[in-house]
Amino acid sequence: IFSNVKMGPTIEVFALTKRFSEDTNQNKVNLGVGAYRTDEGKPWVLPMVKTVENQISADMTLNHEYLPVAGLPAFRTAASALILGKDNPAILENRVEGIQVQGGTGGIRLTAEFLKRNFGSDVVYVSKPTWGNHKTVFSHAGFSQIKEYRYWDAKNLGVDFEGLKEDLQNAPEGACVILHAVAHNPTGNDPTMDQWAQIADIIEARKLFPLLDCAYQGFATGDLEADAQVVRYFVKRGFELFIAQSFSKNFGLYNERIGNLCIVTKTPDVIPQIRSQMEIIARTMWSNPSHHGARIVAMVLANPAYFEEWKSQVATMANRIKEMRQMMFNKLRQKKVPGSWNHILQQIGMFSFTGLTQDQSRVMVEKHHVFMLLNGRISMAGLTTKNVDYVVDAIQDAISS
Ligand code: PLP
Repeated sequence: IFSNVKMGPTIEVFALTKRFSEDTNQNKVNLGVGAYRTDEGKPWVLPMVKTVENQISADMTLNHEYLPVAGLPAFRTAASALILGKDNPAILENRVEGIQVQGGTGGIRLTAEFLKRNFGSDVVYVSKPTWGNHKTVFSHAGFSQIKEYRYWDAKNLGVDFEGLKEDLQNAPEGACVILHAVAHNPTGNDPTMDQWAQIADIIEARKLFPLLDCAYQGFATGDLEADAQVVRYFVKRGFELFIAQSFSKNFGLYNERIGNLCIVTKTPDVIPQIRSQMEIIARTMWSNPSHHGARIVAMVLANPAYFEEWKSQVATMANRIKEMRQMMFNKLRQKKVPGSWNHILQQIGMFSFTGLTQDQSRVMVEKHHVFMLLNGRISMAGLTTKNVDYVVDAIQDAISS
């Protein structure tokens, strides 16, 4: 019965990680996966996370009972307050609900299912380029029209703002638009606040539904508040919207699959109905979320001293990445690698869109064992003071070959 099952396409980023771990070359570098690494190239368990994990394992009163379908209440409330600000009028007016989901991906999938089931939605707009999973999540949820709005201007290595506006202006009423709330993946280029205001104008005029994908709060500036400003701006403007929050990166809880789908409405009366529909979908997909990650995030966010400590650890990650940007830029210039490379410094967050072509990126992978996406994206978190020279030399060779 399985003989007709066809081999599916590989998932580029995980295929790269597998190749990296099997590669025996001593100089190999993994700039593919979007996960933080220390300057020793190692994953980092945040000390704050370790502290609460120790408390959890020592606490004999805890158990493994099911959580409510919508997740751990303390987590959902704290997560929503983190992105909106605890004194946000939407929270004070009870117009906010959080649903615990499986990472940022779970929030995006839950959104797609909800829109399809409750509004019969069929059209979604994603930036071109975008995170590799946006289109597939929506198409698997039954959306037949996956459209792209222009985003990256490959010639000027910045946001194609005129193209973006034109494409959103042509979007049909009711279409869902996925916006990267902070630190755009893969380009590392965000619109300015003035441009965000114009984007909001179009979304309002065209009656589009914004899904703010927020996977990198803290990674752009190192400051959680500053990185929430786009979300808070949209909420202040009175939009009804969803925010898919991920705690994979800023808590380093990648495999705990912890996220919050934050729902903001105009009035509180619709919240119970929305929650009930979300619960019906969650019940059929994962039934109940898992507890560990939610407990960790809730414990840290609820305790002012822990919260401060965590914030400084987020800043540590963001700052190391910024230092690597600067170091890579300096070395590219010192070694006179063709190009201005200013974009490396201008970009923010975990990723850099290097501008390397597909062929050049292939040389990086095949010849130099520098694992990166073929669209030219590198994870700055994979760079270290020890491998940056090697990577820059590889870029020089890839460009000249
Ligand atoms: N959205 C964007 C833009 C991402 O880059 C990622 C992860 O890389 C996600 C969502 C998904 O995050 P999670 O791993 O929490 O599902």
